[in-house]
Amino acid sequence: MVPILMYHAVLPIDATAKVRGTVPLAVFRDQIGWLARRGYRTLTLDAVAERLDGSGAEGGRCVAITFDDGYRCVLEHAFPVLAEFGMTATLFVVTGAVGTTTDWYVAGGGRAFEHAGWDELERAAAQGFTIGSHTMSHLSLVTASDTAVADEVGASREAIVKRLGACDHFAYPFGAHGDASVAAVQRAGYRSACTTEAGFNRRGQPLLRLRRQSVSRNTTAGRFRRRVGAWF
Ligand SMILES: [Zn+2]
Repeated sequence: MVPILMYHAVLPIDATAKVRGTVPLAVFRDQIGWLARRGYRTLTLDAVAERLDGSGAEGGRCVAITFDDGYRCVLEHAFPVLAEFGMTATLFVVTGAVGTTTDWYVAGGGRAFEHAGWDELERAAAQGFTIGSHTMSHLSLVTASDTAVADEVGASREAIVKRLGACDHFAYPFGAHGDASVAAVQRAGYRSACTTEAGFNRRGQPLLRLRRQSVSRNTTAGRFRRRVGAWF
């Protein structure tokens, strides 16, 4: 059984602050420290794929960590904490937003976020973090035309491969996916794709429909433990 955690932004704000899309850095550090003390290892998404398709060994307390959207604050604040504990993660970037600032959360009472630039993504990849695709423009794949879907999943992968050498993992914007978008992601050559459906991944889980456990500003320490399957 493999839990895959889903984060968005991590910022050094007050631990009790409620900023949309954001886990305070002190809370994130507590979560990662707890995983380390309990003996959890972090799996790359390649290792997750190997466990689920039966080609990799099972066993041990494991978790995969993902961050959607590609925010600079994740590289600045979350990745150093993970590196300190010998852990790894995947960042799903929106290739059309690389190096820009977007206001996706502002309408909902949040703040604008800077997206990491290509040079920063290259450094993160060199440190062992995985960079995956979250499309070019963060559109919902279930409402877009077939042509737009093929373009979004294909061109974003090509852009990342061109800069970083590889891009085998995908996350559906808004978690939105259906048979047609899953097929498009497969045709584009991705090995795995993450949804936002809650739950754990067991052997046989389709690799292009991976479940994830959301970690947000409202995730208490007790809820976090249940998200990784620790019921005790
Ligand atoms: Zn997103």
